Amino acid sequence: MDEDGLLRSSGRLSLNEAIPYDTRCPIILPRKHPVTRLIVKEHHVEGKHIAGTNHTLALLSNKYWLIGGREEIREWENTCNECKRGKPRGGQQIMAPLPKSRTNVDTMRAFDKVSVDFAGQFLTKQGRGKIKTKRYLCLFTCMKTRAVHLEMAFGLDTDSFINCLYRFTSRRGIPSEIRSDNGTNFVGARNEFIKLFDTIDKAKVERYF
Ligand SMILES: [Zn+2]
Repeated sequence: MDEDGLLRSSGRLSLNEAIPYDTRCPIILPRKHPVTRLIVKEHHVEGKHIAGTNHTLALLSNKYWLIGGREEIREWENTCNECKRGKPRGGQQIMAPLPKSRTNVDTMRAFDKVSVDFAGQFLTKQGRGKIKTKRYLCLFTCMKTRAVHLEMAFGLDTDSFINCLYRFTSRRGIPSEIRSDNGTNFVGARNEFIKLFDTIDKAKVERYF
């Protein structure tokens, strides 16, 4: 207890003249006291609301000995309105329900229902000393098993995609459903298939299948 009636802590450095008196014998502050809280707040504001718990504690330790100091500072950091405003939580995207083809279990054959997309471009080497050329990745993914099948596409045109699709169906079987975005090559391929379907002699085909 000093002449002002303040309770001070005394450690083994209390006789060290090189350190200021306040640091040698810091004022003991009780936990959860309104005055303690105000002192913590002052130092928190001094740290411009961005100083971490340890830094604020170090600043306070120059003059005060806080009982449960780290918790006291953390409590204030959690209640500080300025800090809350500075760290807003990002909005959460609402996810659409899964399409029926992802959840129905009518058949479990892999690649029966697929979705497709392109990725790239990738610069590929055709051999030593040759010029690098652009290639694209055509990715098929099974909507049931989540298995993937990768094909190399020579370009973003419709013909390249049809070639990819031909190679894919040759290896994995003909899918009953294909989903894609509205990419020009996908829409182009769809139109080509509709045209092809219209031109074939349906009566003749039905005779055989
Ligand atoms: Zn703050």
